[in-house]
Amino acid sequence: MSDMLRTIESAGLTAVENFSLAPLTTYRVGGAARVFVDVEGPAQLTLLGECRPAAEMEVLVVGNGSNLLVSDAGFDGLAIRLGAGFSAVSVLHKTVTAGSSALLPVVARRTVAESLTGFEWAVGVPGTVGGAVRMNAGGHGSDISATLSAIRAVDLRTGENLTMAPNELDLGYRHSNIASTTVVSEAEFQLRRGNRQAGEAELSEIVRWRRENQPGGANAGSVFANPAGASAGQLIDAAGCKGLRVGTASVSDKHANFIQADTNGSADDVHELMDRVIGIVQEQFGVQLRPETRLVGFRNPVGGP
Ligand SMILES: Cc1cc2nc3c(=O)[nH]c(=O)nc-3n(C[C@H](O)[C@H](O)[C@H](O)COP(=O)(O)OP(=O)(O)OC[C@H]3O[C@@H](n4cnc5c(N)ncnc54)[C@H](O)[C@@H]3O)c2cc1C
Repeated sequence: MSDMLRTIESAGLTAVENFSLAPLTTYRVGGAARVFVDVEGPAQLTLLGECRPAAEMEVLVVGNGSNLLVSDAGFDGLAIRLGAGFSAVSVLHKTVTAGSSALLPVVARRTVAESLTGFEWAVGVPGTVGGAVRMNAGGHGSDISATLSAIRAVDLRTGENLTMAPNELDLGYRHSNIASTTVVSEAEFQLRRGNRQAGEAELSEIVRWRRENQPGGANAGSVFANPAGASAGQLIDAAGCKGLRVGTASVSDKHANFIQADTNGSADDVHELMDRVIGIVQEQFGVQLRPETRLVGFRNPVGGP
């Protein structure tokens, strides 16, 4: 047992070695984390922070795993997941406070039920609030940065509790400067007064649009970020990549920027397929696609030489 594992356990947390991460991701493929800790609530997160695990090991915070591809070799570090103690959503006037493990569709529906507007876009994004803040997730003309007013977080290098304003987070298109060693525990949003019926109609329309345009199955949403002024999906489609397959992974026939993993598939197949798609689009259009999916534990970056 490593020293860090002992330190974490002596702080009263349960750490598991060689813990499979595949079931925690929407791709449902990939290997294990060297150490895994389920953090039930804020008091446990403080204890974990006091162990300063990130001073010794790489850290991966797993939200709903809907934007993660973990290599078949796994993650040689500490993976943590925030549990039910981080799932509360509260509404006071137009201020919404959501714990990091709250799911975006839950927050979207709750805010509409409170006759608030500004979060409807998130109803079709299957991530947690913490993952969405880190990614500055977005869609349907909006994103997290449009309404975020503050986050609370713990720095696993120093154990420090942080409160940060959006202008400290460098939020851009699917980007923030939140370090892999910083665990977002809660986020606060300022919404506008809206009309409940109009909000419900918008939620239904977004859900309908998603069902019509996006595939089901094991995937992590858009694989590549849209290049400036272009659509990654349209480029991949125009390059003839729909249906392209590497082993257990294939480019969706329904939406070219989605990759589907077969049941009991391989993360390394998904990775290799991403690499192939990057190469084909580069060759045909001279555009270098950049992954939107977070790649964990791979030796070689995609699109490399
Ligand atoms: C069907 C489908 C549709 C999708 N549609 C969209 C879309 O329209 N728009 C969009 O932006 N995305 C979309 N996604 C991708 C994904 O849902 C978002 O990126 C989402 O925000 C990821 O949240 P998560 O909790 O699943 O994060 P994860 O995938 O678990 O993690 C993503 C990143 O955030 C970090 N992270 C997670 N939780 C925390 C935390 N508490 N503190 C600090 N860092 C954390 C992780 O370490 C990782 O770097 C889609 C995915 C799927 C499967």
